[in-house]
Amino acid sequence: RGTPALRVTEWSDVVDWWPRLGAASEKYSRGVVGVATGSATYPGAAVLSVGGALAGPTGMVRYAGGARAEVLHQHPSVIATGRVADAGRVQAWVCGSGLGTGEEAAGELRAVLAAPVPVVLDADALTLLVDGSLADQLRKRDAPIVVTPHDREFTRLCGESPGTDRVAATLRLAAWMNAVVLLKGDRTVIGTPDGQAYVNPTGTPALATGGTGDVLAGLLGSLLAAGVPAARAAAMAAYLHGLAGREAARGGPVTAPDVADALRPVLARLG
Ligand code: AMP
Ligand code: MG
Repeated sequence: RGTPALRVTEWSDVVDWWPRLGAASEKYSRGVVGVATGSATYPGAAVLSVGGALAGPTGMVRYAGGARAEVLHQHPSVIATGRVADAGRVQAWVCGSGLGTGEEAAGELRAVLAAPVPVVLDADALTLLVDGSLADQLRKRDAPIVVTPHDREFTRLCGESPGTDRVAATLRLAAWMNAVVLLKGDRTVIGTPDGQAYVNPTGTPALATGGTGDVLAGLLGSLLAAGVPAARAAAMAAYLHGLAGREAARGGPVTAPDVADALRPVLARLG
């Protein structure tokens, strides 16, 4: 293989790639995203990932997890069920943040991986993947997979830390997992199994606060459910999430719900 194609995502890319509403748009045709995150112990992760998903281009969010009451209280437009198997049809799944790593969580991840649609795997789903049988199920999948590790999650998945060449590390993991890898950091890197990489220029240290990654995963899932190809969806989600972090920081110290809220004014600029 030759030199990997590396590009820095630009605003004009996002403007080109963002799926827009047509006059005949209807909630199902815009895509339905399923969110399997959170638990009784970590309801906030569910609220944040659903918040990210609701800001995205899909017409509907279905929540399947252990934090239904909290999700419905914060986001009444969501359809909430307890289990992935009961959620009905979705065009993409987001799975992992705050899910837990026990047997029940593993069962839900299995159900997500069994669905023939794109998936975003984050946080506890990445921890669960270190189990060999789930990793096998992952490699046998045809539909696209995006994993969104931060450095410690990357190290757990990969067996070694990203090191200084983060683009090379991302591309290695992407090829090995046959998945799009979004390695989070101050300059988030996105790598594909066939050697394409994007670097995100919009990051801000304001995002270095608990829960912002959950918002990113939700937004990314919405883009996948709307039919955006996985690498573009990941590059676009990182770019817009960074802008939302900057927007939120204009109002003072940032918390993750502020980032979810700030996605709306940022997306409004897309026209
Ligand atoms: P997580 O660790 O899963 O909560 O995700 C944190 C999010 O914040 C990711 O999108 C990171 O890229 C972003 N982030 C964290 N620290 C920084 C930083 N110093 N500069 C830019 N982005 C950051
Ligand atoms: Mg996280």
